[in-house]
Amino acid sequence: MLLRLPTSVSAAQECLAEGAVPIGGATLVWATWQRDGFPELAMSLRDVPEANVLGRETVGGAVVLDRMDGRVPDVLRLAAAGVGTGAVRRTATVGGNLVGSALRCLLPAAIVLDARATVLEPHGVHETDLSELVAKRPVLLSLRWREPIACAYRKLAGEAGGPPPLVVASAVHADDGGGRLRVAVREGYDVLSGSAPCGTDTEEVLDALRATAFADLPAAAWQVVRSQVTGLPGGRGRD
Ligand SMILES: Cc1cc2nc3c(=O)[nH]c(=O)nc-3n(C[C@H](O)[C@H](O)[C@H](O)COP(=O)(O)OP(=O)(O)OC[C@H]3O[C@@H](n4cnc5c(N)ncnc54)[C@H](O)[C@@H]3O)c2cc1C
Repeated sequence: MLLRLPTSVSAAQECLAEGAVPIGGATLVWATWQRDGFPELAMSLRDVPEANVLGRETVGGAVVLDRMDGRVPDVLRLAAAGVGTGAVRRTATVGGNLVGSALRCLLPAAIVLDARATVLEPHGVHETDLSELVAKRPVLLSLRWREPIACAYRKLAGEAGGPPPLVVASAVHADDGGGRLRVAVREGYDVLSGSAPCGTDTEEVLDALRATAFADLPAAAWQVVRSQVTGLPGGRGRD
């Protein structure tokens, strides 16, 4: 296997056009490749500046999970901190998690941030939404969002060998007509999301949320949503 390390987006695009497979920290692919054989050509984005941005409103696809500290909103920092073990987090990347993994602990956080993805394809760079990112699995260069007013993240403890633990993420955004609360829940391997205008009455906000994708959420999971929303400024009304 030849591993290319392009240093610019245009060089990465050329690698892609030559059929290079993107690789992050190889925490997922290594075992599969050892078993099934290595691809002829792979490329890492670790030397591409656009894939290494890290800030309040952006993160690059090549950023290692362990680097996601107080520079990113808490919802994303906590999501990254909850992935696997320290050894995995020191190697695994944002792109590998969001595009390449089945668990995608970062996805609920990215959804509530209303993040947009900048992706690289053989014919160029373009912006897309998270559902297309997950469905079409292009090469992720970076994510971009507007900083929320407040946010929260919770991942329940899982049992070894059991189903993926519940994840609940939420964020309050300033909207033109007032605040908007976004909530995303990973239940099993499914990720549900909904939003509601912030209000002065928590029960009204919760009712509005419940009427979105969460109508069939099991009671125990809804309790976790309820407690998280109640703790956010947007769940109690605008402060
Ligand atoms: C012990 C262990 C525990 C784990 N626990 C969790 C957990 O709790 N929560 C969770 O969410 N995940 C968990 N994972 C999975 C983890 O998220 C992935 O292993 C990791 O995120 C993959 O990142 P990577 O950079 O190593 O990807 P790689 O292994 O390098 O690649 C994985 C896939 O992603 C593709 N890919 C890589 N980078 C990009 C990119 N920029 N754009 C598009 N595609 C790309 C590759 O082509 C490949 O198909 C766990 C993994 C392990 C080994």
